Amino acid sequence: MNQRLDPVTRARLLQDDAQFLGQPIALTGDAGQVIRANTRHIALMMRDGVAPDRASAAAAFVESLLDVTARQIAAPLACGKGCSHCCTTYVSCTIPEVFRLAQAIRGSETTKAAVLTAAARSKAMPQMQREFDRVVCPILVDHACSAYAHRPVVCRSVLSTSLDRCLAIFQQNRSEPFAYPDGAEVARIYSVLMMRAALILCGLPHQNIEMTHALEIALADEHAEARWLAGEPLFASVAIDRGDQTTSDFSGLAEGLAAAIQPTL
Ligand code: SF4
Repeated sequence: MNQRLDPVTRARLLQDDAQFLGQPIALTGDAGQVIRANTRHIALMMRDGVAPDRASAAAAFVESLLDVTARQIAAPLACGKGCSHCCTTYVSCTIPEVFRLAQAIRGSETTKAAVLTAAARSKAMPQMQREFDRVVCPILVDHACSAYAHRPVVCRSVLSTSLDRCLAIFQQNRSEPFAYPDGAEVARIYSVLMMRAALILCGLPHQNIEMTHALEIALADEHAEARWLAGEPLFASVAIDRGDQTTSDFSGLAEGLAAAIQPTL
């Protein structure tokens, strides 16, 4: 059993953390200190806060951290407004990201109706089938994300250096490796890792789940986020991402990070 830090050492640690919060994470070399400081911050936001929207606030923080980190990516990108081939694929995200996205679309009856339609199709289709029977994201309007500032981590980090490769994958359904620029996958992995470890530390469900079905549930009740933070298993019926259904190197990393931080909370 890990010993909890004494209050004076803990206060000093939190003071040291302040210099790293919201700062870009190094994509090469040792990023450990920045990751630990920001993970601790995200966990404390959700665990010690009282605001009913503190999960979506934590997601916003992680997303902004990913955005500043991604600015280090130097390769020219093929991505641009109006290019939306990747918005036809399966999307999974953490539950705080679902609430963050729901905030942006709650006021639009048109988008909410589109979410219900897409969720019905998604629920009836195994994850792998989504690579062949494309379900266009219900948030996509005129080939642009209508909730761009609120989009999940995975959407922010699907960056491509090759339009041809995107067309092969998303239009021709060919099984080819995605043309990520150097650093994009690392930035995504760090972002998901921090959120996942923070959720573990808060005792909240931490796996990625299918986005459209989860959005349907989040939109059904304006108090859904507060209920989920209070422990209600609102998303128990939503399919967990295949990659999170069994233990993996990544899940081990997240558990290890949470275990290292736990005595400092
Ligand atoms: S949330 Fe936005 S960026 Fe992500 S798949 Fe949907 S339309 Fe595309």
